[in-house]
Amino acid sequence: MSTLADNLRAISERIDNAARAAGRDTASVHLLAVSKTKPASAIREIHAAGVRDVGENYLQEALAKQDELRDLPLIWHFIGPIQSNKTKAIAEHFDWVHSVDRLKIAQRLSEQRPIGLPALNVCLQVNVSGEDSKSGCTPADLPALAQAVAELPNLRLRGLMAIPEPSDDRATQEAAFARLRQLQENLGLGLDTLSMGMSHDLEAAIAQGATWVRIGTALFGARDYGQP
Ligand SMILES: *Cc1c(COP(=O)(O)O)cnc(C)c1O
Repeated sequence: MSTLADNLRAISERIDNAARAAGRDTASVHLLAVSKTKPASAIREIHAAGVRDVGENYLQEALAKQDELRDLPLIWHFIGPIQSNKTKAIAEHFDWVHSVDRLKIAQRLSEQRPIGLPALNVCLQVNVSGEDSKSGCTPADLPALAQAVAELPNLRLRGLMAIPEPSDDRATQEAAFARLRQLQENLGLGLDTLSMGMSHDLEAAIAQGATWVRIGTALFGARDYGQP
C-alpha cells in the first residue's frame, strides 16, 4: 500500500510533467487536496507532507475536521453545491469557494462574510458539458453573473471552475477545459484562476491553463461512502 506521501510525490510529478509539456511554470499550478469522506488524520498527514490547501464538499463534515485541525495553518476551500442555509457558515469558515453558480448565493456570502476577514475568494462554477443534472451556471448566463459578483464588496472574484462530464479521451477532456478558459478570457475581467482538473484528467486541464487542480482519489485513495 502506498502512503499519502508517496501519492503526493506521484501527483506532484504528474503536475510537473504536465506543466513542462505545456511550456508552463509548474509553480503556476496549485494543488488542492480534496478530502471529502476522509478523516482529519489524513489531512494532518498530507499537511505534514507539504500540502496547505484542502477542499471539502460537505459543510458539516468540513466544520468537524476544521475543529480537529485548528492547530494547522490550512487554507480551506469549499467546492460542493451550496444551499442558501449554508452560506453563513461557509462565509465564516472558508478562504475560498469554488462552486458559486447563482447571484443569490454570492450576495449572501458577501453579506455574511465577517468583518475583519479578508474578502472571500470565489470562483464561478460553469456547466461546460451541458448536462442537466450538473451544477453550474450556463455559459450564456455567465457574463451577467460574473459582472454582478465582481461588484460585491466582500467577495474577490478570482475565476471559473468546472467539472466536465468524465471522459477517457484526451481530446474530449481538453475541449471542455479549453471552453472554460475561453469563457474566462471572453469576460475580460482579468481573472487569474481556472479551477479545473481532477485525478483522471489533470494533464488535460493543465494543458489548457488550470491554476488549481482538485485531487481526491489519486492522493487519498478511493472514497468509501459507507455501508448501507
Ligand atoms: C470529489 C471532487 C474532486 C476530486 O475528485 P477525484 O476524482 O477524487 O480526484 C474534485 N472536485 C470536486 C468538485 C469534487 O467534488
